[in-house]
Amino acid sequence: MKCINILGGGPAGSAAALAALRHRTCDSAVTVIEKSRLPRHKVCGEFLSPEIARELERLGAWDAFVEAGPARVSRTMLHFGSRSKSSRLPEPAFGLSRYAFDLMLLDQARAAGADVASETEKDPLVVATGRRATRTSRGQRLFGFKAHFEGPTDDAVELFFFERCYVGVSSIEAGKTNVCGLAPESFLSRFGFEYDGVVMQCRALSDRLQPLRRVTQWFSTGPLQYGQAFADAGHAYPAGDALSFVDPFTGSGLLAAVRSGAMAGKAAAIGQPVGDYLRECRASLRQPFQIAGVLRRALEGGWAEKLAPLAPARLLFALTRPK
Ligand SMILES: Cc1cc2nc3c(=O)[nH]c(=O)nc-3n(C[C@H](O)[C@H](O)[C@H](O)COP(=O)(O)OP(=O)(O)OC[C@H]3O[C@@H](n4cnc5c(N)ncnc54)[C@H](O)[C@@H]3O)c2cc1C
Repeated sequence: MKCINILGGGPAGSAAALAALRHRTCDSAVTVIEKSRLPRHKVCGEFLSPEIARELERLGAWDAFVEAGPARVSRTMLHFGSRSKSSRLPEPAFGLSRYAFDLMLLDQARAAGADVASETEKDPLVVATGRRATRTSRGQRLFGFKAHFEGPTDDAVELFFFERCYVGVSSIEAGKTNVCGLAPESFLSRFGFEYDGVVMQCRALSDRLQPLRRVTQWFSTGPLQYGQAFADAGHAYPAGDALSFVDPFTGSGLLAAVRSGAMAGKAAAIGQPVGDYLRECRASLRQPFQIAGVLRRALEGGWAEKLAPLAPARLLFALTRPK
């Protein structure tokens, strides 16, 4: 009997399982191997790009997603120092905590017939183990942090850029708000990694958070290195962040994870050559990578603030989505 073993039970791994179950021949077994206990909080902005709806419909997980009660997000608001730029999204996006989203997808895979295990001795066919470790020098390293807040909600995903950091504020389920940022270690260490102090360093951000009350601890992760592109996992199909890790401010990582996971699961089930699968992934993901790289250089070079009023926000949003 053919065994489709999928290493990692995050969004990419669960999407791979759902797609493999749809495309398998009747005698193949699908197993997801997840080393950690779920559900758990993961550091993430928890913003889901509008196109996630079509991906989840294709995987048969849309109804369960809606039942989890995601917030609707219809606008973006970018803040650079004292300047702000607002625009409407082409279609509504969603906000759902990773606590709920990852569990919902894994439950869907389980209900569709996947086994879920905590370890395996067999080689995986799909590798969906998330970001790879990086070797950036101390001080330069980037860390992510997030907490949930309660208080008045808003239909905009807001991004605040300051001091080589950015912090996103966006609604999630049950009237909560996600606050998630990314900053260099050298900046965070000035505040002893006390994130309540870090978010106060941007005036516009501290005004935005003023009516809100933090209801979880701060979670942190790192070091992070974005722009890692297109891993080759030998005979296995890499998916999600294990395949490529796009800069989180694009808010397209989860979409890319679910999409590449679904592509990997199908490829594994039908026996598509790994090289062909990787070529398809590159065609889908290359553009968001390139555009995110240009935007990152604009932010680091300090010219994003000057260019922001000229940049067509809807076009930038479209260019940072996987094809
Ligand atoms: C600060 C920050 C903010 C972000 N904000 C957003 C956002 O707002 N919107 C968005 O779309 N994206 C965002 N992202 C990106 C998004 O979080 C990732 O793209 C997404 O988590 C990738 O999913 P994945 O399934 O590939 O990996 P993961 O979610 O990392 O899942 C991998 C799973 O594999 C398991 N695992 C690892 N090794 C093994 C092993 N050896 N055996 C078994 N299991 C293993 C792990 O426990 C984990 O559960 C953000 C990322 C960061 C860092």
